[in-house]
Amino acid sequence: MKLPSQVTIVEVGPRDGFQNIKTFIPTDVKQEIIAAIVAAGVKNIEVTSFVHPKAVPQMADAADIAKAAVAVQDVHGLTLNALVPNLTGAKKAYECGLRDITCVISASEKHNLANINRTREQSLADLAAIAAELPGLTVRLGVATAFGCPFAGPVPKEDVLSLVEAGLKAGARAVTLCDTIGVGNPRLVSGICRDFLAAFPAVPVALHLHDTRGMGLANTLAGLEAGITTFETAIGGLGGCPFAPGAAGNTATEDTVNMLHAMGIATGIDLPRYLAAVAIVKEKIQPALTGHMGSACAYPGL
Ligand code: ZN
Repeated sequence: MKLPSQVTIVEVGPRDGFQNIKTFIPTDVKQEIIAAIVAAGVKNIEVTSFVHPKAVPQMADAADIAKAAVAVQDVHGLTLNALVPNLTGAKKAYECGLRDITCVISASEKHNLANINRTREQSLADLAAIAAELPGLTVRLGVATAFGCPFAGPVPKEDVLSLVEAGLKAGARAVTLCDTIGVGNPRLVSGICRDFLAAFPAVPVALHLHDTRGMGLANTLAGLEAGITTFETAIGGLGGCPFAPGAAGNTATEDTVNMLHAMGIATGIDLPRYLAAVAIVKEKIQPALTGHMGSACAYPGL
C-alpha cells in the first residue's frame, strides 16, 4: 500500500455535527467540547456556521463560539474555519477574527437548487463576491454531492471537476470534496480523487466523507491511497443526512484517527484524550453515537 506518513484531520463536529441536532446545545457546552477536542491535539476545526439563526437556530451563537475560539487560536496553534452561506455570513466571520471560511456549492444543480434555492452559477457569483470583497479571507469551496445526489442520482465527475475549476476562477483557494449523503464507494472515491489531484495538483484538497451506509472508513482508505492527506471528520460520528433520518453521520474522528494510527500514520491527535471529548458529547448531547471507538475496549499494545 502506498500511504502517507502523516494526515491532517479537520474536526467538523462543532459545525456539521451540532448543526444536525435539533435541541439547542448551550454555548458553554459547545465550548467545553471544543476545548476538549483542542486538548487532544486537534489543530484544525470548523467551529461554527454563519447561517441565519432562523434557518438554523443551533448556530445562533456562531459569533460567540468563533470569538472564543479565535481568542485561544495562537496559544494552541489552531487553524479555524467556519461555513458561510453568503457575503453577510462571510463578513460576520471576518469580524469575529476568522480568516478561513467554507462556501458550499453542490456539484449537482438539482441539489443546489433544493438545498439553497440557487443555481450553481448564482452560488459561484456569491463566492466571487466574497473573495473580491474580503481578500483577507481564504475561501474554501466545499463541493457537495461530489459522489452522488439524492435528487439526480449519480453525479458525473466532469460536473465535479468543472465546478472546482469555476470555483477556483471565482477566488476559492482550497477545495473539499463532500460525500454529502454517504453514497460514495471506494472505487468512485479513488477515481474522483485521482482525477482531482491530476487536474489541480497545487490546490489544497480535503475529503469529507459520511458513514451513512457504513463506507466511511473504506472510502477514507481509498482517498488515502489516491493521495489525499486531509480529511474532515466529526466527533462521535455526529451529523446526519436530512434525507435519511436516524442514519449515521459524518465519519467519526476517533475511528479515523484509530485506523490511521494503527497503520502507522501520524495525526498529532492523542486518541485517549480525544475519547475523553467523545465521552463529554455522549454525556451532554447524544448518548448513542455512531462512532465505534467511543465504546470500544482498550487492549494493551493494540
Ligand atoms: Zn458532513
